Amino acid sequence: MTIRGRQPTPEPPAGRVLIIASGQTGEQITELIRRAEGAPATTLVPTPLAAIAALGDAAAAGVVALIDARWPHLPEAIRGLREAAPAPARIILCAPPEMEPAARLLLEAGADDYVILPPEPDDLLQSLRLSPAARWEGRRLLTAEPTPPADELAMLAELLSLLDARPIELLERTAILVRRTLSAAGVTVVVSGSVATSGEVVTEPVLAATVDAGADRRGQVLVGPPAGSPYQPVHVRRLEHYARIAGYVLAAVFDRMRWRQQAETDELSGLPNRRHFDRALLETLEQGRANRMPVTLLLFDIDDFKSYNDRYGHDAGDEIIRTAAALFRANCREHDLVARYGGDEFAVVFWDPKGQRVAGSRPPADAMEVLERFRRALRSHEFRSFSRTQKGQLTISGGLATYPWDADTPEALVKRADDALLEAKRAGKDRIYLIGESGSGKNSATG
Ligand code: GH3
Ligand code: MG
Repeated sequence: MTIRGRQPTPEPPAGRVLIIASGQTGEQITELIRRAEGAPATTLVPTPLAAIAALGDAAAAGVVALIDARWPHLPEAIRGLREAAPAPARIILCAPPEMEPAARLLLEAGADDYVILPPEPDDLLQSLRLSPAARWEGRRLLTAEPTPPADELAMLAELLSLLDARPIELLERTAILVRRTLSAAGVTVVVSGSVATSGEVVTEPVLAATVDAGADRRGQVLVGPPAGSPYQPVHVRRLEHYARIAGYVLAAVFDRMRWRQQAETDELSGLPNRRHFDRALLETLEQGRANRMPVTLLLFDIDDFKSYNDRYGHDAGDEIIRTAAALFRANCREHDLVARYGGDEFAVVFWDPKGQRVAGSRPPADAMEVLERFRRALRSHEFRSFSRTQKGQLTISGGLATYPWDADTPEALVKRADDALLEAKRAGKDRIYLIGESGSGKNSATG
């Protein structure tokens, strides 16, 4: 394996300790380890990759890694170190206080222990299984910054657990966290066009930090005047830490959103796929339950689609699917979910964000209107692959079921709509059936 930028490393004697850190912290850790019994040799390396390269050359007694939120693949880096330095070599993480939750998670990736910065000499040496030389024992070498309050650590842990949240929620939490820890009158976070404020709106910032995702500048954290005593340098350092963590977590959130969107989109039609539909139906029903709001599900399927495939070819079949998807989408309201359920079958979830259930009301009047518009559009659409005489021949059959009247779980709702769809097919196609109160299919619209 060749690693770019790798310097030839002298063969370290047994018992050497590798330190992944730079600047002052690297020197402080080096100094601490020199004060251990037997004073093991130390090597400073700038990155996990450089440490893995050095470990490839010779075994070491331990690795001390200063973890940094800017490292893009922290767990992978620790796993790589673990492979390169198998037990009994110790891998010890040094974490700034706000990275404590991340450090704890990294134990699962193979680290043996972590210490909080600035390290207590005894803690660091003990975690490396070294003992302090008698003359240094019991002495504190570094002055610690005030430890952040416990609720700050809890909020940071929460921030890291928000990877599935919407970015705006993350920004709101960041604003609250920064305002609390700095005792600021107000904090505004602006990232990629989204704005979240905690406390007073910040018009004239006293402190500011940029939020970066990798090399890209994404936004800023703006801090208003202090609510109490003036800001200290420690506050500025904390603000920079939070802005860095916010950038790291936001980049991960955006990545996840992109991946999820790709994983939940049907390539042919561009509509959400079945995976997305399953999740969205569950969420919409939960909302329906909470807000006493009806939710109508339509499943529809193109009639005799196989015959179009057989007569005009698979590409023509694809065109039908794409066109049906686009026409349906265009005839629905924006908040209705239109998904490709599979093959030539589509699913639509109709709901009304304002619609409280009223006694005696019986949706889905809205759904029937949408369906009528769609069927008119389908009849007048000229498919490129068909001859003119074929215009208007494409028809659909569908089944409708409505929460809470017909079913109250996603599975049951899908089953009821699917039963109604099958009945519509059996009764001669080109019609939409809805499950009636009696439970039997009722012909509600035929073409
Ligand atoms: P029915 O009226 O009972 O629905 O009859 P049908 O011919 O439409 O039968 P069915 O719905 O069972 O058949 C769906 C066909 O759709 C089967 C499959 O070959 C075809 N199909 C599924 N996915 C695609 C696709 O992405 N592109 C094309 N061109 N055809 C597809
Ligand atoms: Mg079909």
